[in-house]
Amino acid sequence: MMRKVVKTVFSKPATQFYPQEKPSLDDDYRGKPEFDFVACIGCGLCSKECPARAIEMVLCSNKKLPQLNLAKCIFCYHCYEICPKKAIHYSCDFELASTDKSALILKPKTGEQTCLTL
Ligand code: SF4
Ligand code: SF4
Repeated sequence: MMRKVVKTVFSKPATQFYPQEKPSLDDDYRGKPEFDFVACIGCGLCSKECPARAIEMVLCSNKKLPQLNLAKCIFCYHCYEICPKKAIHYSCDFELASTDKSALILKPKTGEQTCLTL
């Protein structure tokens, strides 16, 4: 018994001291999907193929662009695989919790303030 206690006290902790210490993540970690709205051609394929219906096409500056609802996203990255312009990228952003549901809807960033739902 005593041997086990001593071994446990001097062994490496099994848990991390999060959030004080940030975990190291792999390059292909599937965090929040990021969109390149310049490269995007508004084809809508990501929206059509998203199994969670997390992407809605909206009209911004006379261009159709994807708007992501993080509350629905299951981080499958099917959108990344299907995008013909490689306009969707992996990110290591995993701290996505919010008490404000509307903060989870990521509107396209184009400099234009209002985007219209199609
Ligand atoms: S599939 Fe790619 S190019 Fe098409 S709307 Fe989505 S992000 Fe834009
Ligand atoms: S990662 Fe999957 S669930 Fe999330 S937006 Fe892309 S296709 Fe939809």
